Amino acid sequence: MDYFFDYTSQITNQFIDPKKRVFLFYILISILIATAWFMINKKLSFKKTLIKIFDKKIFFSKSAKSDYKIFLINQLIMMIVSPFLITQLTIATALYFYFHTIDWLSAGMFVGIAKIYIILSFTIFQFTIDDFSKYIVHRFMHKWPVLWALHKVHHSATVLTPMTVFRTHPLEGIIFSLRSAITQAIGISLFFYLFGNSVDLYTVLGANVFVFLFNILGSNLRHSHIGIRYWKWLEYILISPAQHQLHHSIAKEHHDKNFGAALAVWDWLFGSLHHSMEYETLKLGIEKNQNEDSHDLKTLYINPFLEIRNYFFKLLKIMKFKIFNLKLKKRYLNEN
Ligand SMILES: [Zn+2]
Ligand SMILES: [Zn+2]
Repeated sequence: MDYFFDYTSQITNQFIDPKKRVFLFYILISILIATAWFMINKKLSFKKTLIKIFDKKIFFSKSAKSDYKIFLINQLIMMIVSPFLITQLTIATALYFYFHTIDWLSAGMFVGIAKIYIILSFTIFQFTIDDFSKYIVHRFMHKWPVLWALHKVHHSATVLTPMTVFRTHPLEGIIFSLRSAITQAIGISLFFYLFGNSVDLYTVLGANVFVFLFNILGSNLRHSHIGIRYWKWLEYILISPAQHQLHHSIAKEHHDKNFGAALAVWDWLFGSLHHSMEYETLKLGIEKNQNEDSHDLKTLYINPFLEIRNYFFKLLKIMKFKIFNLKLKKRYLNEN
């Protein structure tokens, strides 16, 4: 019974915690932004706007229904797995002691700095390092076949809803929660070591102020059918909803573009930026002939393991072949 209570409160928490993406207030703001965009930009009536936003074809599609189910299953898996994962505190403590062994660093070397600067720089540092690590991990997810096998689950969505953010393979969920623990720990240990106890975050409703801003600027529209574009100059700095939707497009020219979470600067700096474009509809998913099976839960959870196994078998075969060739060469050289 306790477990059932933990599980339901964990699910509810996603919608009532301002640190979470789908906090109901953020969803409401996204709806307001979408309403303004349809009415002002697309000149639609209020009624037509509502029909467009709450499009039944999208929210009750096979793809979206899988998103909802994956959300419920993954919450349960994370509840079971998370006690076994290394915590942010463990990593931070280890790093804190490690810093003591570095000669050119000394504990509390910047203690005298005004508190306001410490808090401001810590808030910016945490947000930036978190966003940058998301970019790096996401890029690897597309690059390395083993990680792509997992990340494909997210990309198999053929329509986007705010709940698509949860459509991930649980192993990707574990990788991302470790990423979060490591980046948080780096910031906390480093700042505590250098600045002493005056480290704090600027927060709104308990969330980092920049995370809060990102969310009230309509972060939930990134996974939606509402292709809001920013000015070209702004799309170099912040990822617009349309830019992330393009990341989900099946078109070859859109592959491996716009890995960024909130900031677009990483994509800009490392050559993966693609500006948004005006589309009537953007075809989303992995490949053209993607069938209905791609929303089947068994396929989504099990296939990545099979693909990873096949990848390593193939690698083993290549290695065996190379060793065999080397032996042949050696024998030939010895004989001559
Ligand atoms: Zn991706
Ligand atoms: Zn996405």
